[in-house]
Amino acid sequence: MSDNPRKFKGGVHPEDSKALSASKPVQTAPLLGKYTVIVHQNIGAPPEIVVKKGDLVKKGQLLAKASGFVSVPLHAPTSGTVTAIEKSPGPACVSVPSIEITADGKDEWGSPFEPIADWRNTDPAVLKQRVVDAGIVGMGGAGFPSHVKLSPTKPVDTLILNGAECEPYLTADHRLMLEQTEDVLLGAAILARILGLKTAVIGVEANKPDAISKLNAFASKYSVTVQKLRVNYPQGAEKQLIYALTGREVPIGGLPMDVGCVVQNVASAVAVVEAVVKGIPSIERITTVTGEPLVNPGNWRFRIGTPISKALELAGGVKYQPAKLLLGGPMMGFAQNSLDVTVMKNTSGILLIPVEQVSQYTSEPCIRCGRCVEACPMDILPATISQAVENERFDWAEQLNVAACIECGSCSYVCPSHRPLNQHFKRAKAEILAARRKQQKK
Ligand code: SF4
Ligand code: SF4
Repeated sequence: MSDNPRKFKGGVHPEDSKALSASKPVQTAPLLGKYTVIVHQNIGAPPEIVVKKGDLVKKGQLLAKASGFVSVPLHAPTSGTVTAIEKSPGPACVSVPSIEITADGKDEWGSPFEPIADWRNTDPAVLKQRVVDAGIVGMGGAGFPSHVKLSPTKPVDTLILNGAECEPYLTADHRLMLEQTEDVLLGAAILARILGLKTAVIGVEANKPDAISKLNAFASKYSVTVQKLRVNYPQGAEKQLIYALTGREVPIGGLPMDVGCVVQNVASAVAVVEAVVKGIPSIERITTVTGEPLVNPGNWRFRIGTPISKALELAGGVKYQPAKLLLGGPMMGFAQNSLDVTVMKNTSGILLIPVEQVSQYTSEPCIRCGRCVEACPMDILPATISQAVENERFDWAEQLNVAACIECGSCSYVCPSHRPLNQHFKRAKAEILAARRKQQKK
């Protein structure tokens, strides 16, 4: 292992609060009587449902097929009956199409895939097709279809596994690297073969020394290098990770492949091992269920479609009433208004925030302190873009390059006036996209 002190511009150091769950081994959630599988779990086109109400399904059977290149299929989390295809609460606080499976309790396999034990001598195209068919997405939170990143249209020479897990509170990847160390490394080796590379590098923040040391103990067996990263949020954002590990800067509006890199999350790498070596599609994930209000924060292996209410129950319920429920971490997570939302492929965390941590302050005028500019890892001007949004000048926000914003929340975190900067940028991007679509229709 080599240390890597390279630091990206900006970033912040929020209290990490990982101690609540970092030492808790992953527990497997018990089989439930019912799962509600949200259909659209990936960035890109939603898959097309191929089952109907009343159908009997086996665990791993196809529920919805990919509807394009940037789309992924969906599989049954257990065996049972399709009892409803209707809308249910979604992660963006609006109802979304879902498939309800009432379990038969047998948990009988019906996966359409054969294991590919001899993956080292298997055509990389066959391995990649398995990633496509297994419905694997970026499990760090992005939900971007993994196979798309494995199809670069430019030459790449570096595969990076993202083990930074820089979001406060989250420890699912940490536990994965500790408990399934060789699976993470094997995943890196399979992904490298798909890309035609011989090696890979895995970046882990220095606040996980046990994971770094365990990975390092097996890394050479899989031709993987382990790099310790500075603890600096958002170290796990793709562009910041690439810079820290290679010194290469992804251009504004560019992709990792523009600088010869492909980045995959460690949990996605393990999902690739499951799909290739064991023939298991993406039907479960490890999620951190945490927050001070919980009796027993920890890490659980959930089937896709598990209700958040069940996850909170497994964590012992609450000691006192929280102020907020988030899916993901406190910096980039999404506030929820229903406990009926279910675990998706990209649900890295379920977080209860206590009242004292929720900003109770009202937003005040900008005092031009410049802290947001210093904190921004993308070198844009948060205060000025926010001003543009407040004035409904989305054209101006576009000129100020709001598209480069990775919505990391660092600017909001440091702003002494508690300005809703991140919300402004999300709104600006939505307005710009809507205006563009309107223009295209003319
Ligand atoms: S949310 Fe956007 S503008 Fe704010 S710090 Fe992150 S990248 Fe910069
Ligand atoms: S941190 Fe807040 S107050 Fe300071 S310049 Fe940025 S928006 Fe204005």
